[in-house]
Amino acid sequence: MKALVYHGPNNKAWEEKPKPALQHPTDAIVRITKTTICGTDLHILKGDVPEVTDGRILGHEGVGVIEEVGSSVTGFKPGDRVIISCISSCGKCDYCRKAMYSHCENGGWILGHLIDGTQAEYVRTPFADTSLYHIPPGSDEESMVMLSDILPTGFECGVLSGQLKPADTLAIVGAGPIGLAALLTAQFYSPAQIIMIDLDDNRLKFSKKIGATETINSASENAIERVKALTGQKGADVVIEAVGIPATFALCQSLVAPGGHIANVGVHGKSVELHLETLWSKNITITTRLVDTVTLPVLLKTIQARKLSPGQLITHHFKLTDIIKAYDTFAHADKENALKVILSND
Ligand code: ZN
Ligand code: ZN
Repeated sequence: MKALVYHGPNNKAWEEKPKPALQHPTDAIVRITKTTICGTDLHILKGDVPEVTDGRILGHEGVGVIEEVGSSVTGFKPGDRVIISCISSCGKCDYCRKAMYSHCENGGWILGHLIDGTQAEYVRTPFADTSLYHIPPGSDEESMVMLSDILPTGFECGVLSGQLKPADTLAIVGAGPIGLAALLTAQFYSPAQIIMIDLDDNRLKFSKKIGATETINSASENAIERVKALTGQKGADVVIEAVGIPATFALCQSLVAPGGHIANVGVHGKSVELHLETLWSKNITITTRLVDTVTLPVLLKTIQARKLSPGQLITHHFKLTDIIKAYDTFAHADKENALKVILSND
């Protein structure tokens, strides 16, 4: 089969690899029908994730059709259409029993990281019964790809960790796919204001189309002053950090209102400054979380009920065989106006 293979920093190839085989009775082999590229894949390609070694097939998101299942898999059979969670969970360890699948002692984020991933014609998915989800008949498969990672990430690490409530003021720092996923799922809770902050006017314009009440381009405007002006000088009740650099985490600390929450979603590669000299008395909560995808079934139902339309985040389509071109587009997301790209294996 063909797959997108990592060969060290700034080196990838679409090349021939052996078709995966079952290794454990709990495995499934899935023929990928649609997959995508994540910001995390770009981090890996820069060499920021050293656990990813030469020869690894990248990708941790996608949907497909079950080709084969191990002898102990009971919930899936060949021919079933499935969503692959970016988190593999054994369902049995202490963390899985607490629904903290991200820290599964036998899995967690391993696809396209520690084991071969989904940017391929076929993938081996461990713990199939607890890591795959049936696609209901008649579903839009492209929307289902958004359930592998970005929707649960924006919802769990941003909205749920931030404890967003009706009539709250929400500020989201970063209008990339994850920030936009938080923007979409935040609307379940009817916040009074959703203020989107980014450097890219196109992304801000799009944010307004999908529910932001205010947008701030922090390159040309003073985001702190604008948020203060919009909130009667209080700041935002919930601030979601969806970038992952020291400057944006610092901004979040300046935006949060007394009693508020900072929910960190961004992947940080550098240490940040914690301004306890101003925050110590403000009754705020800071949360961190890796996505568990524990809300995947709930989000799937909201898509079925047309309360959530994640297909809006898809800007580009490619054949899986054109994945190198798709990476080029995604790597220049600002110039290309790209959010999520869909790769189809027809
Ligand atoms: Zn991802
Ligand atoms: Zn586990």
